[in-house]
Amino acid sequence: QAAAISGHIEFKNVSFTYPDTGIQAIKNISFEVKPGEFVAIIGRTGSGKSTIANLLMRMYDTDSGEILIDGKPLRELDLNSFRQQIGFVPQEVFLFSDSIKNNIAFGISAPDQETIEAAAKNAAVYQNIVEFEKGFETLIGERGITLSGGQKQRLSIARAIIKEPQILVFDDCLSAVDTRTEEQILNNLGRVMKNKTSILIAHRVSTIKNADKILVIEGGEIMEQGSHRSL
Ligand code: ATP
Repeated sequence: QAAAISGHIEFKNVSFTYPDTGIQAIKNISFEVKPGEFVAIIGRTGSGKSTIANLLMRMYDTDSGEILIDGKPLRELDLNSFRQQIGFVPQEVFLFSDSIKNNIAFGISAPDQETIEAAAKNAAVYQNIVEFEKGFETLIGERGITLSGGQKQRLSIARAIIKEPQILVFDDCLSAVDTRTEEQILNNLGRVMKNKTSILIAHRVSTIKNADKILVIEGGEIMEQGSHRSL
């Protein structure tokens, strides 16, 4: 059994340059996310938001500075066990040519139908699924049906939620979801992620109004941070 994390995240003077392009995407940023906090990251396209998520998932190592998880350097943690405790929804949804059920339950062992349905409900995609003739057994992808962008995003959210992660990271994965559905999902997240850490990269102000903290990123730097009211 791997060490459980509490969800405390700290970026300390982190800089990062993409090795293939030489673009310095992150410039000396520092911020802290306490366990249980809901932090939103906003900023223009290309400002470095996804890079922050990528660094947190340790898809890359920092050039300098340090990312600490519960006070321990991220690069010293067991990567598999760390990633298992994070529900990461990437910007580009990745689905398999398989059933909806298997797409949601990807990465967890022996899920029961009830658990899968609960995840689908929390991601506000349950109603869409049961409207398909074969419900959760519906095949998607090459051999199956084509889902809308918003449905894909919500399946991908269900896949993250089903892990009951200690940390949830959404990389702009509500862009194709209408504002009413978005509100439902955010309400559900408030419930399932209570006392757990959430980081949402977002575009719409509606997504972030309940955040404990908002980071405004520009040119790889944090321009402002504070609550919705203070900003
Ligand atoms: P968006 O809102 O469009 O997703 P973003 O704020 O998430 O933008 P990033 O994707 O973090 O921004 O990009 C920050 C900078 O790093 C940009 O200049 C981008 O071109 C560059 N970049 C992003 N991903 C890569 C990559 N895989 N390889 C090289 N450069 C990259």
